[in-house]
Amino acid sequence: MFAIGHFALGYLAGKGSSKALKTRINLPLVIVLSVIPDIDLLLEIWNPTVFMHRGLTHSLITFTVVLIPFLIAYGRQAIPYYAVLLSHSLIGDFFTGGVGLFWPISQKWFGNYWMPIGGLADVIAELVLFAIATAIMFKAGDLQKLFRPKNHNLLLFIGFGAVLGPLLSPGGFESVLPTLLVPPSLFWLIVFAYSMFIELWSKSQKPPPGRKTSENLN
Ligand SMILES: [Zn+2]
Repeated sequence: MFAIGHFALGYLAGKGSSKALKTRINLPLVIVLSVIPDIDLLLEIWNPTVFMHRGLTHSLITFTVVLIPFLIAYGRQAIPYYAVLLSHSLIGDFFTGGVGLFWPISQKWFGNYWMPIGGLADVIAELVLFAIATAIMFKAGDLQKLFRPKNHNLLLFIGFGAVLGPLLSPGGFESVLPTLLVPPSLFWLIVFAYSMFIELWSKSQKPPPGRKTSENLN
């Protein structure tokens, strides 16, 4: 699955579980975590044995080991983010070629191949997920929050890279980006770029520390 589908699944999993647990989610963090398992596409260039694509960074064992310290520190607030990671491997990649769910304990591949990445079924699924998740994001007011200056907007450079990579890479990483996924890719590129810009702009407008503004002189 491409970033378009993973963003949507991650948001739906994170938002749904945060509602059930009555916690809040940080949308830029959800977006980043929804695609972070695919960092192995870059890491496998460095070490293809350890970072075989859809192995270590897609494993439920890795996700659970990473979850434990956050669960201790943040309690149930950490669980929606775990759900985001699970959505990547158990839904997105499971149905588009499978994953090594229990790597490194087992090298067995879990999933199915009837919906290959970049194929028509995958593209339709990603477009439908994009439409549903973006509509909910807008209705819930989460999308609009990306347009307010916040430090964590800058995390979106990872989401930006996950969308830009397949757009710029002629041979693709896992597969060539289907033309139908170009419009949603451009949508996210613009949203992420604007979100990061608004944060950087607001930072540049703040007076240096210690300098009194006309407001605090009054
Ligand atoms: Zn993946």
